Amino acid sequence: MNYDYLVVGAGLFGSTFAYEAAKRGKRIKVIDKRNHIGGNIYTENIEGINVHKYGAHIFHTNNKEIWDYVNQFAEFNRYTNSPIANYKGEVYNLPFNMNTFNKLWGVLTPDEAIAKITEQKEHAHVDTPQNLEEQAISLVGTDIYKKLIKGYTEKQWGRKATELPAFIIKRLPVRFTYDNNYFNDRYQGIPIGGYTQIIKKMLSNDLIDVELGTDFFLKKEEYMRTFPKIIYTGMIDQFFDYKLGTLEYRSLKFETSVLDVENYQGNAVVNYTDSETPFTRIIEHKHFEFGKQPKTVVTREYPANWEKGDEPYYPMNDQKNNELFKKYSELAEGLDNIIFGGRLGNYKYYDMHQVIGAAWSLIAKEFK
Ligand code: FAD
Repeated sequence: MNYDYLVVGAGLFGSTFAYEAAKRGKRIKVIDKRNHIGGNIYTENIEGINVHKYGAHIFHTNNKEIWDYVNQFAEFNRYTNSPIANYKGEVYNLPFNMNTFNKLWGVLTPDEAIAKITEQKEHAHVDTPQNLEEQAISLVGTDIYKKLIKGYTEKQWGRKATELPAFIIKRLPVRFTYDNNYFNDRYQGIPIGGYTQIIKKMLSNDLIDVELGTDFFLKKEEYMRTFPKIIYTGMIDQFFDYKLGTLEYRSLKFETSVLDVENYQGNAVVNYTDSETPFTRIIEHKHFEFGKQPKTVVTREYPANWEKGDEPYYPMNDQKNNELFKKYSELAEGLDNIIFGGRLGNYKYYDMHQVIGAAWSLIAKEFK
């Protein structure tokens, strides 16, 4: 078949692009080095439970068009993300809200909570936050910082909070209401039956061929020669053989087990916010879909340093890496037939709704 596009990566970006391009009559080949479609939103069924193989994924957006779009591929439930924090056996609600403040200090009203935080901020003398620790204290005071932010964040990033940039937590969700809903977005939910069905439907057009277990780099020259255009959603620095340097990521290790109990922790997401527990959170997957199966599947999430060959989960968007990425983007602009997209191609932490928006923008540009 003569293809119009090669799409490298069967994740949400590549699949949205392929779906939209095929709707416009284009022929597309999609390859992925993994042996499944879906990229990081892939869910697999274990014991009748849809397991989020690459970490908890909750769809949320304020954009009605994007919400309606994903709802054509799956029915979404009413799941609301309300994580629990476990600090050395003390349990708190997240995001930081009146329930958290009440448990910490016994305060009952927003004014009392604001007064407590203000008192702690003043005591800490933080005027212009220079690092993450100062930023966190300036937002929520010292108690919340010490119990709920410090250990978790240091594990997550593998660095001391005083060595992390303040911007990482510019937008800490803090609420002076008794509302445990983590997101402020208007639309939120989990696709009933898991995320993989969405990608499967996106890739089901006869004009799309999918080849799994295929690494682009094994035939890079041939692909570049034979496809008129390539949408590449892998790591941008790898594409250029790391010739300007290596972009940094944080990685994760997942430890998943099937337990012979119906309900292990009573919530989908429990964060462990002390520094001694080596993992950051435990996910109990059945609760994303209010499952009643006799067994349960839980995943412990361990943050890890990233080295070449590991899964690159989170781009380290600090100044040094952003500058390097900018240089790679300049190289990318010089190539006519390659478009870089998705979280690895754009070296950007995208949520799912943002990935769909970015793929739509590319479609608009390609088919204007
Ligand atoms: P990916 O899903 O990474 O897809 C890229 C694909 O390209 C992969 O399948 C990869 O195997 C393939 N590929 C790479 N290199 C090659 C190569 N050389 N050859 C062939 N194939 C290649 N978003 C939310 O909205 N809500 C959440 O709750 C949420 N939670 C998250 C939790 C974690 C732990 C992580 C890491 C992300 C989370 N996200 C969440 C973000 C979400 O995962 C991304 O927005 C989305 O998956 C990005 O899609 P993508 O297609 O850009 O990338």
